Amino acid sequence: MAVDLAPLDQALETAHLPALSAALVHLTGDLGWLRPEWRPIYTPLSRGETGVSEAEQAKMRAAAKVAITDYLTGKRPMAPIPGPDAVRQMMSFVAGADIPDGYGDFLSDELALDGHSSKDPNWSSPQLKAAARRLNVLVVGAGMSGILAAIRLTQAGVPFEIVDKNADVGGTWLENTYPGCRVDSSNHMYSYSFEPNHFWPQHFSTQPVLLDYFRGVAARHDVKKHVRFETTVEEMVWDEPRAVWKVRLKTPSGHEQVEAQAVITAVGQLNRPRYPEIKGRERFAGAAFHSAEWRHDVDLTGKRVAVIGTGASAFQFVPEIAGKVASLTVFQRTPPWGFPVPHYHEDVPDGMNWLMEHVPFYDKWYRFWMFWMVTDGLLPMVTADPAWKGPPTAVSELNLGFREMIAQAIAAQAPDRPDLIAKVIPTYPVGGKRSLLDNGVWIEALKRDNVELVTEGISEITPQGVVTADGQARDFDVIIYGTGFYASKFLWPMKITGRDGADLHARWDGDARAYLGMTTPGFPNLFMIYGPNTNIVVNGSIIFFSECSVRYILGCLKLLAETGSAAMEPKREVHDAFNIKVDEGNSLMAWGAPQVTSWYKNEKGRVSQNWPFALVDYWRATLAPDPKDFVLTKSAELVG
Ligand code: NAP
Repeated sequence: MAVDLAPLDQALETAHLPALSAALVHLTGDLGWLRPEWRPIYTPLSRGETGVSEAEQAKMRAAAKVAITDYLTGKRPMAPIPGPDAVRQMMSFVAGADIPDGYGDFLSDELALDGHSSKDPNWSSPQLKAAARRLNVLVVGAGMSGILAAIRLTQAGVPFEIVDKNADVGGTWLENTYPGCRVDSSNHMYSYSFEPNHFWPQHFSTQPVLLDYFRGVAARHDVKKHVRFETTVEEMVWDEPRAVWKVRLKTPSGHEQVEAQAVITAVGQLNRPRYPEIKGRERFAGAAFHSAEWRHDVDLTGKRVAVIGTGASAFQFVPEIAGKVASLTVFQRTPPWGFPVPHYHEDVPDGMNWLMEHVPFYDKWYRFWMFWMVTDGLLPMVTADPAWKGPPTAVSELNLGFREMIAQAIAAQAPDRPDLIAKVIPTYPVGGKRSLLDNGVWIEALKRDNVELVTEGISEITPQGVVTADGQARDFDVIIYGTGFYASKFLWPMKITGRDGADLHARWDGDARAYLGMTTPGFPNLFMIYGPNTNIVVNGSIIFFSECSVRYILGCLKLLAETGSAAMEPKREVHDAFNIKVDEGNSLMAWGAPQVTSWYKNEKGRVSQNWPFALVDYWRATLAPDPKDFVLTKSAELVG
């Protein structure tokens, strides 16, 4: 059917022109689209302003209009896929920078121009297919990572079952329904590489939109037929003679035991809500709930509401509820940093979606551009200079400059309220904690007459309300806890017993560690997605990390199948050396600075959440497992 070209002019107005130039090389086979005068010079932290003059942009759009019209009306067929040298030139053009050595294969893989990526499992030989069918995997969790694992296991032909404590797929995007909940990585990147969506309504979509996306992907890949909902793993015990995990499930009708040769955990890092340990908390007489367990049955209209916590969740829901409550008191222990992102709540222009849908490869190159921007992204800005002698509010000269820029953007939002500005500009370095996206609604909410920001510490919660350290008591109808999650209690509250009766939580002793975030010595065939040290702070989307992890885990299963092994676990020395490297890396990042406290650090003060290196480093490290890193055990060698 002929494509309606009426939206083309408007589409070209909204296009990201460097990405469009690359797409036009595909359509025409002509590298002339990469003209030096159209090559972008980006302004840091802008929306991608290219620095190209209006006159040149107009020329480019006019030429693009002809080429796209010719293609869509059938006058010109699509040219063959450009060769590697051409692709490299296209990458450098769209990135506005020469692509450094070591990035070409990584970025080409992410682009997947021929539709193939290293992340697709390739279990095509008949022997492997037969061996795959003999495996048996249990996946714990049907959120973003669990759905992904299910898709890849299906592609590899490995039998599996998923259990999830909830009644539907979606994980965090199912559970977090608080007002204003939305993603804070751009959706054109926060989506599976193999499941593009050309119709994101907003650049940073809201929770219902994301839940729809994940449900849609799960439906297209028929994932649900593998899932047992409302089913929780309580305990897993490794049965050495038989090389299986014996897993005790709590189901809607009682308890049940199942067995699996391998277990993949996909339970997230931010899954178990953490209520603060404040004296008297349980005595409060009004309604009280956590942001991740939002009580939609509690009507906040006209109520006196307290919010405890000012992290990513509160930053989103406070502006949503401020206008409907009688009074809102926000108790802040530490203010968050917010990067200025004016288009945070904006719709994606229709024209842009039209281009994504009708101009082949535009979606891929647009995603590439976003991906490139965060690949090295802001990492240098949040990297510590070991010789830094400046104030503890920064970790390097670059970090200090970054701080000043963001602090100015915050201060500009309330020039008439120095009292407020003094409270909301953090004293810890930018990058120390999770940085949020700021389009002004947070400060706007705090400036309202019915909103008070309290920075005095909380000493007690009473049946009537909250008492602060200065003795002041405030009465409330509702208390909302935006106090985060038990992030560093990885895999808790599952009880996991590995080889020789070792208890995983006792062994970790509050300091979870794993090799590449996925495997840990003494616990064979246990694979974690989004495990220790795989969280990212300023570079990229966690979906990318999950895709790398799942590729590697599938590689581990392949290794078991190919070698006829019953079990595999990482060598202790490999695991320990990796963790030393990660700790060194994190000690050089703003979030590892001694003056910073956050959920990135565990009870021992070690950063157990974050990956300190670039995305390319994780991509390369997880291409495939190196058999030398593992102890592989054949069935005959198992101790009975
Ligand atoms: P959070 O970032 O851990 O924030 C918890 C807040 O509660 C902090 O302000 C913390 O203060 C405060 N707090 C904790 N215990 C307290 C106590 N006893 N008294 C007073 N204040 C207390 O939790 P979150 O906001 O739920 O976000 C968690 C993570 O989820 C984020 O970092 C992000 O990775 C993810 N998230 C993402 C999105 C998104 O993408 N859109 C949205 C929400 C959440 P301190 O800072 O002083 O500890």
